[in-house]
Amino acid sequence: MKRQVPFTGHLVFIGFGSIARATLPLLLRQDHIDVEQITVIAPVVEQNIWFKERGIRFFRKALTEQTFAQILDRFVKPGDFIVNLSVEVSSLAVIAYAFDKGALYLDTCVEPWAGGYSDPQLDLSHRTNYALRYQVLDLRKKLGKGPTAVVAHGANPGLITHLLKAGLVELAVQLDHPLPENRNGVDWALLSMELGIKVIHFAERDTQRSHVPKEDDEFVNTWSVEGFVSEGSQPAELGWGSHERTWPASARRHRFGSRNAIYLERPSAGVLVKTWTPLGGPCVGLMITHHETASTADLLTVKEQRKLVYRPTLHYAYHPCNDALLSVHELIGRGWQMQTRQRILNGEIDSGGIDALGVLFMGHDLNAYWFGSLLSIDEARALVPFNNATSLQVAAGVLSGIVWAIEHPDRGIVEPEQMDHERVLEIARPYLGTLVGQRTDWTPSGAAHKSSVKGAADDWQFKHFTRF
Ligand code: NAD
Repeated sequence: MKRQVPFTGHLVFIGFGSIARATLPLLLRQDHIDVEQITVIAPVVEQNIWFKERGIRFFRKALTEQTFAQILDRFVKPGDFIVNLSVEVSSLAVIAYAFDKGALYLDTCVEPWAGGYSDPQLDLSHRTNYALRYQVLDLRKKLGKGPTAVVAHGANPGLITHLLKAGLVELAVQLDHPLPENRNGVDWALLSMELGIKVIHFAERDTQRSHVPKEDDEFVNTWSVEGFVSEGSQPAELGWGSHERTWPASARRHRFGSRNAIYLERPSAGVLVKTWTPLGGPCVGLMITHHETASTADLLTVKEQRKLVYRPTLHYAYHPCNDALLSVHELIGRGWQMQTRQRILNGEIDSGGIDALGVLFMGHDLNAYWFGSLLSIDEARALVPFNNATSLQVAAGVLSGIVWAIEHPDRGIVEPEQMDHERVLEIARPYLGTLVGQRTDWTPSGAAHKSSVKGAADDWQFKHFTRF
């Protein structure tokens, strides 16, 4: 293992929710990070005794557009690290602030200020993650080189991009496809095209359950309820593949950017897609919108003289834990009005549940191949306190992003696609349970895999995934 660079600055966490609680115990285990130097800023800092006893300092305050710089000024100095694990605190504003201060930065999704996801002044195209990503890319152009700011680096978005690259390598090996020795030299788009991949799902299934069942008028989840409902209320998005022959109902193109992704005029938590994971095989997931939809669509696009040659269709397909699925169902029935009570499952989760988070590559000579992490609640609990299987996969993404940024402190704004996937996975690996690569004969239409090129392309049309 590469020797870890010691960090001597101050770590400033924004937010003390499920992911901050999951990540802090993980950070405390790193002997190259000094515990004395961690401060958490959040409006609510309940149940923090365990953390205080270990030297973490707390400052109870909400950051707003008007106050954030003044508050952060009290804690952040050049060389420090801001870890934004909050909801409703603008990533763009804090990235620009960190850049000015000479501080490093990481978040797990590109978050707008409160109300940004559902701003009635914005048209649907500008409420997508595609649009939020372009705000980040514009800021990157403006700021140029400077202190590293890792954006969208949890589990997904985040580790999923590194699992995508590792899975492509595994699949290439299985298909006897030549690979350069140095994995940094791989042209990922060309490799994906040469392997014949037509569709990619970031396919996740969570089977964690509690002995305290969801009640009426309650939203239950294994991570942020607010975060899940925000992204579930944004329009559904997908990277649009070059093999597609039918334009989906309610789909729209953006009028700006590379136009690698499209959006549906429907809330993403309301769009059902057939998918597959090693946990129980076929299932129906929600097409929740994510940053990686657009960023990996860029990574896997092949163009010749500005003309599109190849891109797989790609998006997230999420089967959350059963109670979360039921909560979404109830939320839709309530006209998207949030339930009165919210609960993030942790201590009350029964033994045995698993979060399967991986990448499902479809349409190649092995039909379909899933590569990713299978982590059980029992493994997560045994490894790090305050964690369930989902939060530990996210915390592993946060930890590996922090360590990578410390090792590469002058890269400016980076998305997961610009990071070295082998190094990131090396850091995250101890917290990911079993890494599994599994092939399947499954197709969305239920038809057996056809070997003819036309037949194979037909099986993997988007319409088959959404037809029930
Ligand atoms: P949570 O809802 O449990 O906690 C959110 C925290 O933000 C709370 O501590 C809250 O007090 C704090 N907060 C709210 N408003 C604030 C303000 N104005 N100033 C400072 N703090 C404020 O959320 P979580 O599950 O910990 O998730 C945190 C973030 O991580 C969310 O943006 C979520 O979408 C994201 N996330 C990403 C992934 C991934 O894999 N990339 C996975 C899970 C969560």
